Amino acid sequence: MSTGGTRAVRLTRWGGPPVITEVPRPVPTGEEVLIRVEAAGLCRSDLHVIDARPGSLPYRTPFTLGHEVAGRVVEQGPLATGPAVGERVVVYGPWGCGSCARCAAGAENYCDRRPALDADLTGTGAGLGRDGGMADLLLVPSGRLLVPVGELAAVQAAPLSDAGLTAYHAVATVRHATGDGTSVVVLGVGGLGHLAVQILRATTTAQVLAVDVREEALALAERCGAHFGTLPRPDSAAVLRDRTGGVGAVAVLDFVGSRSTLELATGVLRAGGELAVVGSGGGELSVRKPGVLPPGTRISLPFWGTLPELERVVALAREGTLKVEVERFALSRAPEAIEGLRSGGVRGRAVLVPD
Ligand code: NAD
Ligand code: ZN
Ligand code: ZN
Repeated sequence: MSTGGTRAVRLTRWGGPPVITEVPRPVPTGEEVLIRVEAAGLCRSDLHVIDARPGSLPYRTPFTLGHEVAGRVVEQGPLATGPAVGERVVVYGPWGCGSCARCAAGAENYCDRRPALDADLTGTGAGLGRDGGMADLLLVPSGRLLVPVGELAAVQAAPLSDAGLTAYHAVATVRHATGDGTSVVVLGVGGLGHLAVQILRATTTAQVLAVDVREEALALAERCGAHFGTLPRPDSAAVLRDRTGGVGAVAVLDFVGSRSTLELATGVLRAGGELAVVGSGGGELSVRKPGVLPPGTRISLPFWGTLPELERVVALAREGTLKVEVERFALSRAPEAIEGLRSGGVRGRAVLVPD
């Protein structure tokens, strides 16, 4: 572990590459809490952020990347509440206004003041327009954004705050449609998808069918409890439909969101089914009646998750139900981790640890 260091992986200009630089040690004031980072996950959204066209995201550069963070509370502002100095925590990543009805209910991912915050370029949260946790230290606006993790390993805890939480929230969105004899299709078994498979197995009785372009991701899906996995092929919709007993899937969780996955989703959904689009793969779907979507389809665009859901995800991990497949990289090797994710070389989640 670095001692006095405050290194940070910074996005200094749109298009990147991010650079590792020394930054001043943050000092918590007011309600703020300072975390010594023990692990920070790398998400495909980080690539979307790095690659964003200037002006397309409501963020100001430079800022430190990293929105999946676990660590230890080391210092608190004079008005801080929540976990005490010394406690190990995971950081809830979407930072809302903290006072609207949604934030009061712990759903800062759907903060009512988000449009106003975006207009002011306030940032969406840790590592998304605000300084995040790919760093030695992370300044968190308030203790309300921290969930204790006890002795859970940091590399397990960090990915829970996005890969785990977002997958949990997406499953929660479609869970009402599941039951004995139903099938759910998971498209993309990477960081989010492999946890979604585990969460589906732990919290529903549905059959889980997985699709990924990589054989090793399908092997991971199987280890996570998927009943069937396939590479996308021209006949995938028919093959998957066949696996559902011919009726189609009650839900599709699309962790890719590309044109081809959305097309596959429309091909496997049962009438009255649920399509949850989680991935930001740039695909588009036209909504028209009648159109490509089966009658009765409900579409959702789940974004991250709520604080109470993060508490449940942490509980699932602490009881051993949820296990993150982790590839560790030293913080100083962040550029390598980013390139590895880009080229499809990461199994599960790449997680940066201090060196
Ligand atoms: P990841 O790279 O770890 O996983 C993506 C997986 O999809 C990989 O295994 C990849 O092989 C697979 N894949 C790619 N193209 C495919 C295709 N055509 N068919 C089937 N599988 C395919 O990424 P991740 O970190 O799990 O993130 C997944 C997506 O979710 C990203 O677009 C990310 O930006 C988005 N995301 C959204 C939210 C949200 O709140 N909505 C939160 C986090 C991430
Ligand atoms: Zn993310
Ligand atoms: Zn709010």
